[in-house]
Amino acid sequence: MSLLIVGSLAFDSVKTPYAASDKMQGGAATYSSVSASYFAKPHIVGIVGKDFTDNEFDLYKRHGINLGDVERVADGLTFFWKGYYEGDMGTAYTEDTQLNVFAQFNPKLSDEAKNKDYLFLANIDPDIQYNVLKQMKKPKLVLCDTMNFWIESKLPSLERLIREIDMFIINDGEAKLLTGESNVIVAAKQILKKYGLKYLIVKKGEHGAMLFSADSIFSIPALPLETVVDPTGAGDTFAGGLIGYVALKDDISIETIKKGMVIGTVMSSFTVSALGTKKIDKVDKNEINVKIKDYKKLIHFGEINI
Ligand code: AMP
Repeated sequence: MSLLIVGSLAFDSVKTPYAASDKMQGGAATYSSVSASYFAKPHIVGIVGKDFTDNEFDLYKRHGINLGDVERVADGLTFFWKGYYEGDMGTAYTEDTQLNVFAQFNPKLSDEAKNKDYLFLANIDPDIQYNVLKQMKKPKLVLCDTMNFWIESKLPSLERLIREIDMFIINDGEAKLLTGESNVIVAAKQILKKYGLKYLIVKKGEHGAMLFSADSIFSIPALPLETVVDPTGAGDTFAGGLIGYVALKDDISIETIKKGMVIGTVMSSFTVSALGTKKIDKVDKNEINVKIKDYKKLIHFGEINI
């Protein structure tokens, strides 16, 4: 089934204890669409500047991603994010965010985009996410991501948006920031109820992810990795894999969402194993299947009788 993704298309400057780059291709829509492309055919809504060249566009083309709703501004610059990680790399420290062409982005969706079945509002200004949501005809499931930057700078816009989506995805720190609660379970239950969500996913970095619905909680670990080279884009890759799988199955039942979380976990393990999009650009279906088998062994246990 068809999938629309809106979010940042970016250049990132990233430094981790294992790797660094002053300028590499990134952005929430980039990581999530490449990840989703292994399961569905994503169509992106976004904007880039004159510094975004054919070299960058090639990444999406290699993965069959539809760029029909990506605007190119001849006299502007692409969104830029600068950040670093240290220690266990559990936190991204932002040093600079330059919205550039995204500051005035007011997308008018093509008819093709409006009619997509699944919508992922990847991380970007919540007013842009809302604008895209409002133009959609009848999506079967709307998943939305955000980050502390928007919780701190645009809370009313973000809250208006979350009230109108089906599924929200944030990390544990953001769940605490949004509610003021120190316990992540309390925070998650509060968010689910307050905004009337069908599903809420709370990502916990190297500790995995949790799914909350009105009557259940599901929790999965991350793949145990000895070396994380660059965590940039892990969350976006997770969400892209999840929504890509849901679109592939065309099913929004909780059982499919759970399997989508497994796919998201596996795909993000590829992203963090190399700098930027290097690895996620190059995986193949066989490698994905092998990782899913490894993961199954990790979490499987037999019958227990006491
Ligand atoms: P993640 O590591 O999955 O949370 O996402 C990393 C990506 O988010 C980077 O490639 C950045 O370009 C992008 N990013 C960073 N800050 C923002 C922001 N304020 N809005 C949208 N995207 C952002």
